[in-house]
Amino acid sequence: MIDFLIVGSGLFGSVFAREVTDKGYSCLIIDKRNHPGGNVYTEKIEGINVHKYGAHIFHTNDEKVWGYVNRFAKFNDYRHKVFVNHENRIFSFPINLMTLHQLWGITKPIEVNSKFNKFGGIMSDKCDNLEDWILSQVGQELYEIFIKGYTQKQWGRNPKDLPSSIIKRIPIRNNFNDFYFDDKYQGIPIGGYTQMINNITKGIEIKLSTNYFEDRTYFDSIASKIVFTGPIDEFYNYKFGKLEYRSINFDHELLSSKDYQGTSVMNYTDKNVPFTRILEHKHFEFGNQDKTLITREYPVEWKTGVEPYYPINDYKNNKLYNLYKQQSILHPSIIFGGRLGEYKYYDMHQIIASALKRSRDIK
Ligand code: UDP
Repeated sequence: MIDFLIVGSGLFGSVFAREVTDKGYSCLIIDKRNHPGGNVYTEKIEGINVHKYGAHIFHTNDEKVWGYVNRFAKFNDYRHKVFVNHENRIFSFPINLMTLHQLWGITKPIEVNSKFNKFGGIMSDKCDNLEDWILSQVGQELYEIFIKGYTQKQWGRNPKDLPSSIIKRIPIRNNFNDFYFDDKYQGIPIGGYTQMINNITKGIEIKLSTNYFEDRTYFDSIASKIVFTGPIDEFYNYKFGKLEYRSINFDHELLSSKDYQGTSVMNYTDKNVPFTRILEHKHFEFGNQDKTLITREYPVEWKTGVEPYYPINDYKNNKLYNLYKQQSILHPSIIFGGRLGEYKYYDMHQIIASALKRSRDIK
């Protein structure tokens, strides 16, 4: 009998496994994929670390989390920037003074303030849907150019039916700061995330291509506790109904040119362009390889058999999730963690913080 069976070798599972192993508990990690790391997995192709499941840029204000990841990887000083392609014109993003200069010719923060103040801005606490909130901040024109099309593609839903928390992730600035994140600590692990995950799980057994659901009775019998990082509704056989997720089809393409788009991430905000963004992986590590690898992201609705990537934290789904959450409280020997286990639109640093906290609680 082992102490912990950890289902899923992503960040939550790996960090949790490291922590409890260091406390002297025994664990086994299993993962249905043929590689570790969950969605942070990177694969080296033509010398480029390719983020196979979408761009992962590490950022945090949490000193402890930053200290923690630095035990397992050296980080470069990449700071994320994103540009927007709208009708074949390139704009600075997130919305900042340069964006507004490009659109309206304005040059000073005070001009941004006087434009934005008209939209109701500060009094926007009552706007709990994405569309109303962003309209109250930046108005119709910017909404149409930068947010509406991208959001409809990404979520497959009317922005009025989405929570404003989704758009509040992105800053809006009245100066020329065009960094995507405000966090104090940022970077990409040199050598890729897979190497970092391998360092975190050093000495811990991982069984790959092993699906918990294919032999549930057996797996339940070998451990005192289970850490489950897959979808919580699947764990409970969808007994209260299916939670909704968004999925992404990643279309990877290796090109013979040295530099395809001159930057790591280009967002395509037009509704009639079927993908949301193009990643060019070499730029995350300032690569100078002869070839380049790009990825187009095509969002799709999740259905059984497809990988879920994003929980949809609207009212309906959160209510359903709460039923599962209540159920899980009755089962203290099962620990649910990560984006799918907790049905939360978590970033990497939040998952690590959560895994550290949950493992600290193990006496
Ligand atoms: N978003 C948008 N236009 C953009 C980029 C983002 O409307 O050019 C919206 C969209 O709804 C997206 C959300 O902002 O889902 C959060 O964006 P973020 O870049 O944080 O998404 P992630 O990288 O997690 O997919």
